[in-house]
Amino acid sequence: AALYKIDGWGAPYFSVNSSGNISVRPHGPETLSHQGIDLLKVVKKVSDPKDLGGLGLKLPLIVRFPDVLKNRLESLNSAFEYAIQSQGYESHYQGVYPVKCNQDRFVVEDIVKFGSSFRFGLEAGSKPELLLAMSCLCKGNPEALLVCNGFKDSEYISLALVARKLALNTVIVLEQLEELDLVIDLSKKLHIRPVIGVRAKLRTRHLGHFGSTSGEKGKFGLNTTQIVRVARKLEQVGMLDCLQLLHFHIGSQIPSTTLLADGVGEAAQIYCELVRLGAQMHVIDIGGGLGIDYDGSKSTESDISVGYTLEEYATAVVQAVRYVCDRKSIKHPVICSESGRAIVSHHSVLIFESVSTSAYESPALSSLGLQYLVEGLSEDASADYRNLTAAAMRGEYDTCLLYTDQLKQRCVEQFKEGSLGIEQLAAVDGLCDLVSKEIGNADPVRTYHVNLSIFTSIPDYWGIGQLFPIVPIHRLDQRPSERGILSDLTCDSDGKMDKFIGCESSLPLHALEGKGGGDGRYYLGMFLGGAYEEALGGVHNLFGGPSIVRVSQSDGPHSFAVTCAVPGSSCADVLRLMRHEPELMFQTLKHRAEECGQGGDNDDGLASAAALASSLAQSFNNMPYLVSGSSCCL
Ligand code: PLP
Repeated sequence: AALYKIDGWGAPYFSVNSSGNISVRPHGPETLSHQGIDLLKVVKKVSDPKDLGGLGLKLPLIVRFPDVLKNRLESLNSAFEYAIQSQGYESHYQGVYPVKCNQDRFVVEDIVKFGSSFRFGLEAGSKPELLLAMSCLCKGNPEALLVCNGFKDSEYISLALVARKLALNTVIVLEQLEELDLVIDLSKKLHIRPVIGVRAKLRTRHLGHFGSTSGEKGKFGLNTTQIVRVARKLEQVGMLDCLQLLHFHIGSQIPSTTLLADGVGEAAQIYCELVRLGAQMHVIDIGGGLGIDYDGSKSTESDISVGYTLEEYATAVVQAVRYVCDRKSIKHPVICSESGRAIVSHHSVLIFESVSTSAYESPALSSLGLQYLVEGLSEDASADYRNLTAAAMRGEYDTCLLYTDQLKQRCVEQFKEGSLGIEQLAAVDGLCDLVSKEIGNADPVRTYHVNLSIFTSIPDYWGIGQLFPIVPIHRLDQRPSERGILSDLTCDSDGKMDKFIGCESSLPLHALEGKGGGDGRYYLGMFLGGAYEEALGGVHNLFGGPSIVRVSQSDGPHSFAVTCAVPGSSCADVLRLMRHEPELMFQTLKHRAEECGQGGDNDDGLASAAALASSLAQSFNNMPYLVSGSSCCL
């Protein structure tokens, strides 16, 4: 556990149990007495073809823990509750979940359900997000906010107005000045009184990777001139009372409470000024930015860590709002946050398998075919070979390296010219590798091939170099003997991971040798990836989404219950995404099989047309990933 710093980024949810497997305590610290859910047992159960009604899910697999979502929501609310009580703040906290972090139906429904007693609402940034937020909130607390952010056209604004008509507590947040006229016109046309918010472009700047939306040149929001214009225009049309919320978002992963307090303080000043201008202000919405400590370092200097706890975050926010409002004698507003990453990151684990390594087995001297060396080498290369042998006898390792490089280079040139055969080149390569290994110069880092697409499942690693904790989910009672990088299934040089938390260029890993899980399989988990990764991922090489299960803690013998299991995208599913028609494709191929396979099973062992067709049908239905212990139905 120490090797992978699990206590740093995983507490209180992830730890290592006495079997050396990752254990999950989805309810957090309250369940320290519970034995925890053994993640390896979950994987075995859901992939067992005899279990779960014969579903036999294939990897990669996302294991969701809804109870983690519940615990995150409770922790966030109690952090604000504590800050509000202890500082005598005279209003309450009422957050919203930005659905863009993970729009999965179960995730959003769970958040609405678990957040109902805290009036927890949703934030949407596009029309489909608004539609899903509207329908989910119909089952939520009627006071829960529905915050409409993002670029808006008349269709989006009409939909948000309809949401108000449906008695959802909807706020249309103006991101651009042009949206104001649309809101005024459409609300008059539809006879619906809107609640309006403005997104302020703060001067406070978050300098990390995720802060590029902040500052005066930020992509979103209104500057002070525009905010004043909004207030004046609303006053002119008799709608200033509709302006009730001030929003800002200075970027995800706010590194420190100093920066946070600076931003919240600036926004609170704008809030108070809007009150002075006559708006019926009610809510200050501090956006997202509550960070996650991906490497457990508690550093304020890096994009993947933050230097505060939930409690410190809430205290800084409440303090900053109260200070400004008290000085201006303004009633304390409701505090809303749009924390996404901090709510959903911990709730899921992506499990994938390493199927092989590039482990180079040095050939035995006897198998090198050294006789070839003598045959075709040029005079210079032969001299290198003799010098190499002599240096090896004398134990002069640096000289050996010099001659192996030189010999290899000359032989490659000879091969390219056509004067050296492939057996000779192979013998030279083998000899050089053997020498490197013998003198301890062989590359100790292995490439672990993983049954995964980084583009589909860890897109932020590829896109912005974000690091996530990656850890074997078993064998953690054995010291890893190797160091490895991970290479995925895509035919793409970017489909590899060679940077890991702690600035490591390789990961401590175990040798693949049939130990551990009992069946020789080696499972890795990518943790803290519950936010953003699922929707951002693409289908490069037509690798689709992983299988998904929901797992809850139970008191039964297994300590867990699988409450939902969905197979990953099939080949047909991903083909459809690119507008192919799998049903027609199948008919075409079946027809060809009938033409080619006339006469049924042949004496020469060729499959019948029917067998070919059924194998093709299975290929469409299977996932695109590798199948362990390959089963061929022909
Ligand atoms: N609100 C807005 C407007 C955002 O743009 C974002 C994400 O960048 C969020 C909320 C969620 O931020 P986070 O995941 O850091 O909480």
